[in-house]
Amino acid sequence: MKHNRDFDPNHGTAVELVPGLRRLTANNPGPFTFHGTNSYLIGTRHLVVIDPGPASDEHIGSILKAADGARIEAILVSHTHMDHSPGARLLKAKTGAPIVGCGSHRSARPLMEDEVNPLDSSGDREHVADQLLAEGDRFSAAGVTFETLETPGHTANHLCFALSGEKILFSADHVMGWSTSIVAPPDGSMRDYMTSIEKILGRPEETYLPGHGAAIHQAKSYVHDLKQHRLDREAAILAELAASERTIPEIVSTLYANVDPVLHPAAGLSVFAHLEDLVDKKKVTASPDLSLTACYRLSR
Ligand SMILES: [Zn+2]
Repeated sequence: MKHNRDFDPNHGTAVELVPGLRRLTANNPGPFTFHGTNSYLIGTRHLVVIDPGPASDEHIGSILKAADGARIEAILVSHTHMDHSPGARLLKAKTGAPIVGCGSHRSARPLMEDEVNPLDSSGDREHVADQLLAEGDRFSAAGVTFETLETPGHTANHLCFALSGEKILFSADHVMGWSTSIVAPPDGSMRDYMTSIEKILGRPEETYLPGHGAAIHQAKSYVHDLKQHRLDREAAILAELAASERTIPEIVSTLYANVDPVLHPAAGLSVFAHLEDLVDKKKVTASPDLSLTACYRLSR
């Protein structure tokens, strides 16, 4: 899987990508955020801001400075992770602009809330939208129109926004060029993610502007590679289980041998997401039951 890690974040300074469309990267670098969260400013005299980022007064100050007096008409939010949505409330408090887009944080499934929550701290449970957008909804502000795509997988409430007439997709954390997306229960689901990958493969957009890292060009061939990468990972897990029954840490130690151990817990959740999907498809059996600590074997 070939990723593009060539990216200058220009923290605090808006970078024009095309006329009327700027990227402003928050200074929240980390193993899951790369150089930081990308906020996007669309428009000139009137603006829409996509994903104002973490609860950072510094970043909100940079957004207002970049706006330079232009009225912010709406704040679009893709999903409720702490690096994307809390800034919306700060920006709304400063501008009065409505928060539009994804609904409240929720699990991808009803039952696992208590059992699997190592990444729960990443969920923004205070997010409330003034206007919800659902599949196919069009939203117009600042002279531009966005089409809403529901793309669950990274989170259950994840949305991408297509910029009408421009063949540009704001892909948030569904598709990023620097890394594969985290798909981890309880808020993520591998089955949902693969369905959402198919959905964008059926779309005309070829330029994606992601939540972290640089723009993705020839995006669909990249998404094909992402899809193949997940299928390969699924095949590798099945091959491990064909050798012997395995726990998740055993699978991670083999499949992620070359990955920084600090990322192994997240890798375990990703393997768990695959196993949940495979159990769902009746290819794998978990004992005593589907969990992070279960033992997994091929179904017969
Ligand atoms: Zn993110």
